[in-house]
Amino acid sequence: MNYGASMNIINPGKEDYHMHSMNYSDGMNSVFEIVYFAGKIGLNKIAITDHSQACLDAKGKCRVSGRDNINRWKNEINDVEVIFGVEGDLLNEEGDICDHLSDEPAEFLILSAHPKVYQLQSSKDTITKGYLNAIKQYHKKIAFIGHPCIKHFSDAVDIKEVIKAANDYGVAMEINGANMMNNRTDMANLDILLERADRVYVNSDAHTLHELKHAREKAFEVLREKGIKLG
Ligand SMILES: [Zn+2]
Ligand SMILES: [Zn+2]
Repeated sequence: MNYGASMNIINPGKEDYHMHSMNYSDGMNSVFEIVYFAGKIGLNKIAITDHSQACLDAKGKCRVSGRDNINRWKNEINDVEVIFGVEGDLLNEEGDICDHLSDEPAEFLILSAHPKVYQLQSSKDTITKGYLNAIKQYHKKIAFIGHPCIKHFSDAVDIKEVIKAANDYGVAMEINGANMMNNRTDMANLDILLERADRVYVNSDAHTLHELKHAREKAFEVLREKGIKLG
């Protein structure tokens, strides 16, 4: 297999663009702890990308604090550059998305499909059309497709079609460290992604400090084992 012949890893270094806090969704640590720890382990830039309102509603979770004051926040802890994004949700076949977590527009938007939020209607239903419609409509604001190789949807997604649309519209795909660590990656779809995707992010999707430290390492280890050169 010809892995990564044309693939460009956008963040091969000390930048992680996908993680969750307890302030705004289902992470186990506060923004303060995440930023402090990110500095401790040598990250230069992070995006705290909590779940969209649709996801919190579907999973019966509420956010602990509002985001009204987010633009008053400055990192006083260390030199890590911090941006606040949203892990948005694909909602339906039409490609509607939920891109917000409060009324503030997201600085950085991931588009993901989550169980319970995107509901498959039958065992034959797919989410491919939803992805294609969303990419077509919202490609300008989507930084990347989050965990496209998640096992939960592996029978319901034509990954080749999604990668093609993402490449055509300049949307990147994600290699998701936490899913790799927690055995939630469809490895066959990952192989297809590594062969075909133009641009990929390698992120932790950390919900814990342990994942913030180790999940990207785990993903890079898998890429190295597959013979992919990491810059
Ligand atoms: Zn997700
Ligand atoms: Zn996530």
